[in-house]
Amino acid sequence: MTATPETIAVDDPLPGVRRVTLNRPQARNAQNLRMTYELNEAFDRAVADPSVRVVVLAAAGPHFCAGHDLRERLEGAARPPSVGTWSGFGEPGAHGRYAHEQEVYLQMTRRWRNLAKPTIAQVHGQCIAGGLMLAWACDLIVASDDAQFRDPVVAMGVLGVEWFAHPWELGPRKAKELLFTADAWSADEAHRLGMVNRVVPRAELEAQVLQIAASIAAKPPFAVKLAKEAVNRAVDRMGQADSIDSAFGLHHVCHAHNQLLFGLPVDPSGLPAAVRRE
Ligand code: ZN
Repeated sequence: MTATPETIAVDDPLPGVRRVTLNRPQARNAQNLRMTYELNEAFDRAVADPSVRVVVLAAAGPHFCAGHDLRERLEGAARPPSVGTWSGFGEPGAHGRYAHEQEVYLQMTRRWRNLAKPTIAQVHGQCIAGGLMLAWACDLIVASDDAQFRDPVVAMGVLGVEWFAHPWELGPRKAKELLFTADAWSADEAHRLGMVNRVVPRAELEAQVLQIAASIAAKPPFAVKLAKEAVNRAVDRMGQADSIDSAFGLHHVCHAHNQLLFGLPVDPSGLPAAVRRE
């Protein structure tokens, strides 16, 4: 898309380790279209580069990600070229919204989840709604002790974020609690539920993530790749892919319901109003 990304930073902090850093701290790293496609390109390059063995997804500023940023709705020539098989992004009604979210949220997240190299999310501060999708797409999640996780989308009239992995990440009963209450959960609670691999002091987060990355990078890369593939296929056979696709349809029933009732789409970004104003 661009040779020099505007919304992310990319570096190689250790041999074999590619780090992709969300870099819109002034917007709490809210994920706009440009960031989505720049992330996708950075991940594709990491997979294609034989020197890269592990990918770290980190974030600049005080928070990991405040969710999707929908203030920018690009159409026509301004929209990044599609990487999927959908079209009709500018169509009115449910058509355009469904196409847009298929590509930008559902298919992108699935692509990143299935990258043929191991990924580690390095999470600190707030990780809200769409931020959960970014972290969940990674193979490991390492969180600092100040991290908080929240999906407040139900409070806005939509059943949850577009990548509906909540029952798999949290277990069904705690998934319902997270969704029904829209409460923020601590890193310790997320760790207890198995959503987070490790919780470390904030000051040690980067070093610990790099230590894990170096350990993975030292392993035979093909074996690591196939270990990831085997686990992901197991989860797919357990029904995750079908469950997420099914929930995506219900997600769009919510969007259509809100549009019929209120005449305009309720912001589905999952961003609390206070965050959206910033
Ligand atoms: Zn949506």
